[in-house]
Amino acid sequence: MTRTRFAPSPTGYLHIGNLRTAIYAYAMAKHAGGDFILRIEDTDQERLVPEGVADIKNILTVFGLAWDEFYVQSERKAAGLYQAAAKRLVSDGHAFYCQCAAKNAKQEGFSSQLRDPCRDQGLTSGAVKLKVPAGETVSYHDFVLRKDVSWDTDAVYDATLLKSDGFPTYHLAAMTDDLAMHVTHVLRGHDWLPSTPIHLLVFKYLGGDRPEIGHLSDIQSSKGGKLSKRRDAVFVEQFLQDGFLPEALLNFVILLGWAPKDNRELFTLPEFVAAFDPGGFQKSNPLYSDKKLNWFNGHYIRQKTDTELTQLVKPFVKTDISLDKLTQIIAIAKERMAKLSDIDGIIKQAVVAPVSYDKALFTSDALVCLQSVLQVVKLSPFTDPDRVNEEFKQEIDRLRLKTGDFYMNLRVALTNSRFTPPITELGTAVIGKSETLHRIENALEYLKS
Ligand code: GLU
Repeated sequence: MTRTRFAPSPTGYLHIGNLRTAIYAYAMAKHAGGDFILRIEDTDQERLVPEGVADIKNILTVFGLAWDEFYVQSERKAAGLYQAAAKRLVSDGHAFYCQCAAKNAKQEGFSSQLRDPCRDQGLTSGAVKLKVPAGETVSYHDFVLRKDVSWDTDAVYDATLLKSDGFPTYHLAAMTDDLAMHVTHVLRGHDWLPSTPIHLLVFKYLGGDRPEIGHLSDIQSSKGGKLSKRRDAVFVEQFLQDGFLPEALLNFVILLGWAPKDNRELFTLPEFVAAFDPGGFQKSNPLYSDKKLNWFNGHYIRQKTDTELTQLVKPFVKTDISLDKLTQIIAIAKERMAKLSDIDGIIKQAVVAPVSYDKALFTSDALVCLQSVLQVVKLSPFTDPDRVNEEFKQEIDRLRLKTGDFYMNLRVALTNSRFTPPITELGTAVIGKSETLHRIENALEYLKS
């Protein structure tokens, strides 16, 4: 039975790298008909954020990542599980008490000394550290990197397992839990690779079947180097607030570090579960691309019905507009939208007349184009866009105008922008005949002044 876990620390927002880990762990378990465990690693009290646990549950739910079992490490700590494991390691001779005043006795982190001075003092209280054996080799096969990795224990330091305040470090808590929860596959960030020899020793001394371990590649920023929260947009909540759909983000991160055998690009969560294969994990670091994410988002936006999309864009609408108008705009704008948040700019183009114009946006034949647009619109019922386009075409042919210029000047006259949804649709369905005439007249006045 395959059992995987997602083990976030509730430190605030979810990094897209962590979302990726969660999706992979979920798909790996579900593909095999196994269980996906959510385990909150909240024993580092300094990094906790109120509501952190609820936020994680909410965000996983948004992505459809339903967990089968749920654990919280602080509750397990209160039940004495980690203290008991640490005690057992000491009594078995694999760990020792330490009372160094040094930082590493109290906190997780690297000791400056490989072999701790308290190691052979036979102390009976204090922090608990791993008694790393001399001259052994520890190794494992990484199922993501698909290679054997080994270390000489002479290069592994006596890591802190239980701090003097009784709180376990990751090295103890996560290993104890992975064994107790019968986790079969651990998927985690590449950052954990250097600590893996410590974990292999802890697993061995605690006893039981240790999980297979796989370290995922680092997502690279288009600005170079690893994706960084100081420089790049990395938090899932931020992406959702910016108007990306969960379906798009999910599909996007699936392919940052995993690839199917064919060149397929579109995956919903159930499709990914069905197609999942650990052989698809990529060894090279994937490159984050805004363009790709926008592409996926546009794709999933266009999968929505107009009614669904109208509901989805509502939080992004800052302009006063009726639901009917909004639905009309959605129907016209859908093809062009990359993000849900694009909607407000499009609404403004439709409902707010330009207060001024940017001359450079018009083409050199703007006057003649707009004069003829004005004539056509005046004579047209201006309700059916196909009919209006036909009327425009006749005028363009009659006066031998350039079709591109004709429409560009209309677009600029109505919105002061060269980028709009299909302008005849917008004009007929949303702006309306009299307002269209009014805006064209204003633009002509501006061009003549
Ligand atoms: N709590 C760890 C983290 O947030 C979990 C790493 C793991 O999956 O083992 O990075």
